[in-house]
Amino acid sequence: MSSIATGVGVSTMAAAFTPPAIDGDLTGRHIVSVEQFARPDLDDLFRSTVDLRSRVRSGDQSVLKLCRRRIMATLFFEASTRTDMSFQAAMLRLGGEVVATAGGVQFSSVYKGENLADSVRAAGSYADVVVLRHPEVRSSYEAAYQLDQLSTRLGTRSVVVSGGDGVGEHPTQALLDLFTIIDFKGTVDGLTVTLVGDLAHGRTVHSLAKILALYGARDLRLELVSPPSLRAPVGIIDFVRQRGLEVHETDSLDEVIGGSDVIYWTRVQQERFASEADYEAIARHFIMTPSVLAQASADVILMHPLPRKHEMGTPADHAVLDIDPRSVYFHQMQNGMYVRMALLAGVLGAAG
Ligand code: ASP
Repeated sequence: MSSIATGVGVSTMAAAFTPPAIDGDLTGRHIVSVEQFARPDLDDLFRSTVDLRSRVRSGDQSVLKLCRRRIMATLFFEASTRTDMSFQAAMLRLGGEVVATAGGVQFSSVYKGENLADSVRAAGSYADVVVLRHPEVRSSYEAAYQLDQLSTRLGTRSVVVSGGDGVGEHPTQALLDLFTIIDFKGTVDGLTVTLVGDLAHGRTVHSLAKILALYGARDLRLELVSPPSLRAPVGIIDFVRQRGLEVHETDSLDEVIGGSDVIYWTRVQQERFASEADYEAIARHFIMTPSVLAQASADVILMHPLPRKHEMGTPADHAVLDIDPRSVYFHQMQNGMYVRMALLAGVLGAAG
């Protein structure tokens, strides 16, 4: 993927684009940042997620009517398994259709040098919603800006939902992560949430930290565990502190693992490093294995956005971790589809 052009270019006007707050109504909204959500919006979305999950599981066919004749386009300029497939599955389970360039974006006009704006305009002129993953921070803001311009020109409306923009944000991952924490713990108040690994480049931890703060969690302690060179950006730490979360940074997992209610493990983001040597220098830090998990409490939940590599040990370690009832990353993965169903139904004005 990294060898192809990515249509890079966030324009000055788009850089100034401010995503509107959801403010009680998802209909017609671009979804590019967790900062658009306030607690009531999240509670509404999660109620809808729970409802859709039980309807899908019980085989309720009426769900298939919600997005009938609606089309979702996917534009993925970076590798993805879960985000891409769960969005597609979500749309299909809502009765909608999915389009993408046959063979992936490497066979789109990006290969001929087309810029991001034109690729997004194409997707937006055919589909009601465009899911975009792109390596450049704020690329989804560019897409939102361009789709608003296109709406004025064509008189039709298409919205973008970010599937992750570089080291910036991954808003829908944060939605599914918060949903999963509440699903298992019943609340976020009073929890100690420990984020471990490459906190510098991991967009999922950036978005998760922010959404916990935006949700107004009370007495929540955030433990940020990373090697000194991979600490979370200062901007993220300031954001959550200003909103009342207690934040503690450390490179010692032993200090905090026993007192954690949620452990959120992450991968070292190899593709974001300037050189292989830089990556190798820190790649072996923080490996989750059954003996590490043994230090955690009996009612902790272990989350991971996946994909996992050596940071969860060997395949033999995976096998042991996977059957530990505290490991909830497969539930988390499936919740992604249900949360994205609720979100798609919401932005398409099809909730209910
Ligand atoms: N799948 C997540 C993401 O797209 C996590 C990862 O790649 O490590 O950010």
